[in-house]
Amino acid sequence: MKITNSKIFDTVKEVVGEDSIKVVEFLKDKKNISDFKIAEKTDTDIHLIRNILYRLYNQNLVTYYRKKDRQKGWYISYWTFNKKRVKDLVGIIKRNKLERFHERLKEEEKHKDNFYMCPNACVRINFEKATDFEFRCPECGNILNHQSNTKTIDFLRGKIRQLKMTPGFKA
Ligand SMILES: [Zn+2]
Repeated sequence: MKITNSKIFDTVKEVVGEDSIKVVEFLKDKKNISDFKIAEKTDTDIHLIRNILYRLYNQNLVTYYRKKDRQKGWYISYWTFNKKRVKDLVGIIKRNKLERFHERLKEEEKHKDNFYMCPNACVRINFEKATDFEFRCPECGNILNHQSNTKTIDFLRGKIRQLKMTPGFKA
């Protein structure tokens, strides 16, 4: 699997948050850049930059070392983006998604064509629960509508198939 820029940005956005993208964009093809320089070049407050860097570090997306600045007398940290980690994370994200889709599919199949939904979309519950509420929405009191979940099941099966076909996927 080739790690394209969009794959990198999508992954860090999902795992670390959208505000990390500008840092990764600046850092990704460089090595050992100080946090001060990252702050300056991305025009971002140094405290926010450090916060983003530590969040990236928690996901092993960056490495760093610290060195004492002789003139200023304080330590400066130098950061490098760990591009290889993106590949691992892509796999982890996919496996998590697949697991969630499988769980939802199992639940939908267990209650096939047995769901009841509020016309105001407050709740979507199975037959047993709907009976408990006498087929009225527990939130707003409207009569619950019977709902076929064939489309949902097809949708989930399609998603699972799609994920399994994605390159780089190891189940
Ligand atoms: Zn309702």
